Amino acid sequence: MTLDLEAAAKERGIKYFLVSYTDLFGNQRAKLVPAAAIRSTCKNGAGFAGFATWLDMSPADADLLAMPDADGLIQLPWKPEVGWLPADLVMNGKAVDQGPRNILKRLIAEAAREGLQMKTGVECEFFLITPCGSEPADTADKQTKPCYDQSALMRRYEVITEICDGMLQLGWKPYQNDHEDANGQFEMNWDYDDALVTADRHAFFKYMTRSIAEKHGLRATFMPKPFMDLTGSGCHAHVSLWQDGRNVFADGSDEIGLSQTGYHFIGGLIHSADALAALTNPTVNSYKRINAPRTTSGATWAPNTVTYTGNNRTHMIRVPDGGRFEFRLADGAANPYLLQAAILAAGLDGIRNRRDPGKRLDINMYTDGHTVEGVKRLPLNMLDALRALEQSSVLHEALGGFVPSYLKLKTQEWNDYCRHLTQWERDTTLDC
Ligand SMILES: [Mg+2]
Repeated sequence: MTLDLEAAAKERGIKYFLVSYTDLFGNQRAKLVPAAAIRSTCKNGAGFAGFATWLDMSPADADLLAMPDADGLIQLPWKPEVGWLPADLVMNGKAVDQGPRNILKRLIAEAAREGLQMKTGVECEFFLITPCGSEPADTADKQTKPCYDQSALMRRYEVITEICDGMLQLGWKPYQNDHEDANGQFEMNWDYDDALVTADRHAFFKYMTRSIAEKHGLRATFMPKPFMDLTGSGCHAHVSLWQDGRNVFADGSDEIGLSQTGYHFIGGLIHSADALAALTNPTVNSYKRINAPRTTSGATWAPNTVTYTGNNRTHMIRVPDGGRFEFRLADGAANPYLLQAAILAAGLDGIRNRRDPGKRLDINMYTDGHTVEGVKRLPLNMLDALRALEQSSVLHEALGGFVPSYLKLKTQEWNDYCRHLTQWERDTTLDC
């Protein structure tokens, strides 16, 4: 049953609702609606000029309406008088093809028609940096191998625990927080759930982390590779598929505990990996995290190849134990909704077409990758990924009208990047 927001506002002391949607570039856009007007907003939507955000719309287009999803309500732990509401996009009475949350919901419904439900957890890595963004904020955080550094973690106790307390209060079941592999980098883990719930929480987590960091005079960034010599920020996703309450990826008789359906799902991700990268690694900067040289800590922890393995972190897909896999390609810039949609679209294609993921490789891909032949490489830059998406009939079919819009905006972004002259070019070319 849909939550009565007016009643919830009275009961929980909510004065305002942030009716929020995520555009194609992952930016969250919102209208702040007083509780007294939430009933009419739920009926009529909150109006936006779509062209003013990244949605491939025209200034001549009709009102873009954000229809709040009352069941997605999240009360801001650091400002409880505000309730955040994820919204679906409607224009001229029709769901907007390129609305990221719309796309994910459509794919979830498609899977449900086949009796399938995807559950995921995400591991959002981020840096706490100075407000100007030039360096990690903690000047004492200098270890060459800073992963799990207890002292550096505890120097950020106030920020990390305020975020974690928020998740506890919201019932997300957070279970671990740590200092990650780069100076100034952290990761906070909460329980997996249905793909849409995880996508909404992922979107909100980014907003919450940035807001609470700001409160403490810091800046949180999910940028994939903010510092060239340090490990970048990934967004690993742990994926399982369920039918009638049963995990259909689990098979105890398999060597790594994965069912045939699980192998086909992975086969789908491997089949479409280069095109998927356009969504899971959506920025120019994303390609400085994957395919990267070794960082000062000793490893990038990011994949270079389209391969899968058992419990080994040097491949694109890791099967750590039975019944699930970890997709390690995506990074901190991934749009929370498109990330889930991309995984589900490629995975369903894998099941329907019984895609073969190929041979499992149990080698260290960082040191021994060159010893295996015929392994697919990941795109080397955003343009390669966009071209792969353009060629992908699987993703065109699954994601529909979204793909041309996304390609158009992202190609513009690539062209904008190419108009920038870098210091590296000057240094290496002035004397040509
Ligand atoms: Mg991590």
